[in-house]
Amino acid sequence: MGGPSPNRVSPPASPLAALTVTEMHAKRWTVRSRCRRCGLTLKVHLPSVIRVLGPDAVLWGRTFRCQRVDDGFACAGDTGYTAQTIRHGSWVGLRAATAREIQLAHANRATAAYDAYRGREPTGFDGKPSGST
Ligand SMILES: [Zn+2]
Repeated sequence: MGGPSPNRVSPPASPLAALTVTEMHAKRWTVRSRCRRCGLTLKVHLPSVIRVLGPDAVLWGRTFRCQRVDDGFACAGDTGYTAQTIRHGSWVGLRAATAREIQLAHANRATAAYDAYRGREPTGFDGKPSGST
């Protein structure tokens, strides 16, 4: 297998890169839910999540009751989330974002909006223009 590591092309998931479900969808992340009890793993359809929970919903640190039903018995486990930013990239568990990460995510968004207003290319959170490697 040649070429750069997928994690170099697209850094693994972080709350700074995409805090909300809308940002995850815009960046084409792949998100899965996994039950901590029965292990049932499902693809998460982000447009549906956006419709149900709203565009600013945050999955970082969030859990939901498992939806599995076997022979009439519902699983009592909780699901957590994992995300992949690019095909073959690392899966990252969506643990709760820290207050500092949330603050930085909002600051990055404000900077990107300011740069767009000034006619500059928005920069990535590493300070380099987005799209460059
Ligand atoms: Zn379960």
